[in-house]
Amino acid sequence: MLIVMKAQATEGEVRAVCQKIESLGFRAHSIPGAQRTAIGITGNQGEVDTGLFDEMAGVQEVIRVSKPYKLVSRDVKPDNTVIRFPGYSATIGGPGLAIMAGPCAIENREQAFAIAERVARAGAQFVRGGAYKPRTSPYSFQGLGEDGLKIMAEVRDRFGLLVVTEAVDYESLDLVDQYADMIQIGARNMQNFSLLKRAGRARKPVLLKRGISATLEEFLMAAEYIMSEGNYNVVLCERGVRTFVDHTRNTLDLSVIPAVQRLSHLPIIADPSHGTGKRDKVTPLARAAVAVGADGLIVEVHNDPDRALSDGMQSLFPDQFDALMVQVRQIAAVLGRTISVGNDEVVAEKQVRR
Ligand code: PEP
Ligand code: MN
Repeated sequence: MLIVMKAQATEGEVRAVCQKIESLGFRAHSIPGAQRTAIGITGNQGEVDTGLFDEMAGVQEVIRVSKPYKLVSRDVKPDNTVIRFPGYSATIGGPGLAIMAGPCAIENREQAFAIAERVARAGAQFVRGGAYKPRTSPYSFQGLGEDGLKIMAEVRDRFGLLVVTEAVDYESLDLVDQYADMIQIGARNMQNFSLLKRAGRARKPVLLKRGISATLEEFLMAAEYIMSEGNYNVVLCERGVRTFVDHTRNTLDLSVIPAVQRLSHLPIIADPSHGTGKRDKVTPLARAAVAVGADGLIVEVHNDPDRALSDGMQSLFPDQFDALMVQVRQIAAVLGRTISVGNDEVVAEKQVRR
């Protein structure tokens, strides 16, 4: 159930409704929007009597939500969610596109710095790179763990890039929450419900990748798990699903982007690297993703892809990433969207300090 407050409802009136919900043993989620605040109720097993709230001060309407997902739904918040990062200019879900780029895995300090320098110069606002790698084979490189996170934190300080990196279990999630700016939940963990709940109790925004066979509803329900625990800063990521085709590693399902945008207020970005698995297809699909309205891109870039410890085949050379940025900037402009160059203020501040 959803309680829509009047546009002029006071903070006290919102609080009183939340207290009433909690006194019934349920959880209240107060979600402020551009026009009004809505309060979602979760934790109820059966129906809640709408009459309990109808007459309360400041309440405009009590709505029964028939969809299985509630907090991710546009019913709760008609306007788009914009994720912000304190101290940085980058946003996700606003008119500016969020560009995340970097290696599949952090391999060592030199590699991470060399790649970050290039992606920062090309205009990315986020650096990606796994310190914990979910690999198909237990014998493949598993990531540097906490040492990798430390390298990423150094990269942030040096280049003013926000850090997005994957957590694979409770332990790594605690560390990623500590070192990074955004917690990535990988495709293989999209239905790891206890991990999703733990991410819902973390302080940092979450980048949730679509599972390799997840339907739209399953994808949104995974985001609902995170939000139901109180973390409302969730960004969805289309990274390709498994189909019968053999010309790509996965099929990047670009139609899910407008489908998500119709149902949910959450931002959605695209990953053309895992979505194709082939270097020559990354830039065309990045262009297409921006054209269909993605709120950003996450792209694998490596300075020496032939020797990369993971996903070299789909990693762009830095020069190719430069070209991608030039192209997607032009496509973004057609849609009235922009791509800022890096995190302006922070970089400027760093230059002054140096
Ligand atoms: C990654 O981003 O490197 C990754 C492993 O992604 P996914 O979970 O989408 O496979
Ligand atoms: Mn990868």
